[in-house]
Amino acid sequence: MLIEEYQIELYTPPWNPGAHRFAARARFAVNISKVLPYLNAVLCGAHYVPSMNTLMLKQGDLLIAFHPHEISITDAANPEDAEQRLKPYIDLVNQTWERRREITPDQRTRLRPTHLAIYRLLPRTNCRECGEATCYLFATKLVLNLRELRDCKPLLEARYRAQLSALEEMLTP
Ligand code: SF4
Repeated sequence: MLIEEYQIELYTPPWNPGAHRFAARARFAVNISKVLPYLNAVLCGAHYVPSMNTLMLKQGDLLIAFHPHEISITDAANPEDAEQRLKPYIDLVNQTWERRREITPDQRTRLRPTHLAIYRLLPRTNCRECGEATCYLFATKLVLNLRELRDCKPLLEARYRAQLSALEEMLTP
């Protein structure tokens, strides 16, 4: 087993100061960098950046990030909830490592677009209908998979059809 011991930490997400829920991470002494190419091979839609030793994954509303010495998630109510949400990903790392001889590791990066590239295709009216203060903040959260295109109602209007189509293409894994 690769990760035998870990500590759970809760913290306020930097993109959401004052939030009532938390981000959380499991920290461990062992380095899991060598598992990331195997996870990249088995996880559909993962975003792996070998130069940063990071793999990100979106599951429902949850964003999960695998780093050499920690796994973090974007949402947890309390330490028990964090433990419950993080444990399956710790198990996934351990199980993938045990199965590594059956898996062909994948070193490829599936590039995500930049905030600015996405922002340029949004209506850029800062109308706040999506609940964000600016279109740029919305673009930032789109890149992090914390929001969805359909949350921007103006973007669904006929006049933005081309932009919507381009954004869908950019954001589809
Ligand atoms: S709803 Fe769309 S146009 Fe309005 S602020 Fe949000 S991202 Fe910008």
